[in-house]
Amino acid sequence: MAVRIDGKAVAETVRNEVRDKTVLLDRERGIRPGLAVVLVGDDPASRIYVRGKKKACEQVGFLSRELTFSADVSEQELLDVVGSLNRDGDIHGILVQLPLPGHINSDLIVESIDPRKDVDGFHPYNVGKLFSGTSYHMSCTPRGIIELLDRYQVSIEGKEAVIVGRSAIVGKPLALMLLARHATITVCHTRTRDLPEVTRRADILVAAAGRPEMIRGDMVKEGAVVIDVGINRAESGKLLGDVAFAEVEPRASYITPVPGGVGPMTIAMLMVNTLNAASLIEER
Ligand code: NAP
Repeated sequence: MAVRIDGKAVAETVRNEVRDKTVLLDRERGIRPGLAVVLVGDDPASRIYVRGKKKACEQVGFLSRELTFSADVSEQELLDVVGSLNRDGDIHGILVQLPLPGHINSDLIVESIDPRKDVDGFHPYNVGKLFSGTSYHMSCTPRGIIELLDRYQVSIEGKEAVIVGRSAIVGKPLALMLLARHATITVCHTRTRDLPEVTRRADILVAAAGRPEMIRGDMVKEGAVVIDVGINRAESGKLLGDVAFAEVEPRASYITPVPGGVGPMTIAMLMVNTLNAASLIEER
């Protein structure tokens, strides 16, 4: 039976470490990290995410600022807001909650964030710098996955890693991060031929497709490490991952549950990025 990777516990450990470092940063250099979250419209999911981020900021001792706008805010207004946050010495991390309403060019807004304050790691500067491993900040969900593997001492070097999903926020950045850690990478998507044949090669299998329970038991090699990024809401309201947990768990060596696996790590890594941003900005 696989070891269940407890993302909730790891996330709490990471937040405690951030809190301790925040106390030190304040004591030694008089810096209190500050995170600004920009929320547009009243998408319920976005509101829940923003609430979670605010709560985490409070737990680790950060200054948190929430800027809320109605769905009809203009692009220029948002550009001005980001511009003033870029110049604000109390704010070290800026996060614009996506998706934005259709009349706003999200790329333009994200590109207007100072890359040093781009704690989501979505700015093209940080995305491009992932190639050389020298970005200021890396995307939080894939970073959280690497952190989970490290904390459970799962070695990555030389392993065959298969990622199902090639999104810009999970699959692609994770591929680069695993490559930097010397894994051999395969990235699958909807045009992949014979997916089960590919997933069965994986020593480390990451499911990030957003398809409930699509990874079945017979798609997983005996002893594989299985990381489930998927968050899917079943009609019953239950949260389901991309992995058919009951079928896969007996074959895997390690497995993340949903909920309580990858999910909690995302906000924890946002706290790590914001702490790093605070050190970075002040060192300029
Ligand atoms: P996305 O942008 O919708 O991308 C999904 C990817 O999966 C695409 O590359 C797609 O291929 C591929 N895919 C879909 N169905 C497939 C299939 N049947 N076979 C092979 N590949 C398939 O999704 P995302 O934003 O990366 O999110 C993926 C999942 O992770 C979602 O459930 C999301 O809720 C969850 N998520 C969780 C966290 C967290 O835990 N904090 C963070 C982000 C996302 P094509 O490119 O060919 O379309």
